[in-house]
Amino acid sequence: MNIEVLGCSGGIGHGLKTTTFLLDETLLVDAGTGIELLTMEQMLKVQDVVITHAHIDHIIGLPLMLATIYDQHTHPINVYALPAVIDALQQHIFNWTIWPDYTCLPENKPIIHLHRVETGSELTLQNKQIRVLPAEHPTPTAGYLIMDDSSSFAFTGDSGCNDALWPLLNKYNPDLLIIDVSFTDEVDELARLSGHLTPSHLTHQLAQFQHKDTRIMITHLKPGFEDTIMQQCRKLLPEWQIDRLHHRDLIQL
Ligand SMILES: [Zn+2]
Ligand SMILES: [Zn+2]
Repeated sequence: MNIEVLGCSGGIGHGLKTTTFLLDETLLVDAGTGIELLTMEQMLKVQDVVITHAHIDHIIGLPLMLATIYDQHTHPINVYALPAVIDALQQHIFNWTIWPDYTCLPENKPIIHLHRVETGSELTLQNKQIRVLPAEHPTPTAGYLIMDDSSSFAFTGDSGCNDALWPLLNKYNPDLLIIDVSFTDEVDELARLSGHLTPSHLTHQLAQFQHKDTRIMITHLKPGFEDTIMQQCRKLLPEWQIDRLHHRDLIQL
């Protein structure tokens, strides 16, 4: 599996894009401002999009991409998310006020199809099995475990402490875990309230994870605090392989 990291920051600014991963050129996991890095040709290859939650940093690229490829696309794009997220997209984005309702445009062959998935369910997209993982965030949120014949990776979505996740990851033993550590230990309360991890929270969470050979990559870091977050993670967790994710990383599993 090839994972192109198009965005992995907790904010924007020069050199920073929000959550967007492109898998094997056709499957997007979240659609943040990282979509900007795709060429027209690349956008036209996207077939499926799985969305973790409706926060704007994870969806803003989707309506803009649809408008961009609208008169050149040759196949519909299938979007998968929790029911509350699909409802939010319909009510708050594709409502003719914020953006046109692409679920009925063009009239006879809409450019997107929206699909509701539940936590715990599995779907097959192209050659991949995708399991919808639980997440803890102030709005309904899912993570995803994505597996093909030879590799697997798990993405937590935005999530704070999430004890329901670890028995699943212990069972499936992903090759790579991309996990949200947005804040430093100094702002513990802010992290709890906003549903993100700190390095100390990560330490408590990883105490429940059995697979020390899994590569762990940190995402969604708050701009300006990236180095401090990584220093705190490495100090607290010297026995784990922990790296910071950067946009434009190309990960081959
Ligand atoms: Zn969020
Ligand atoms: Zn986010």
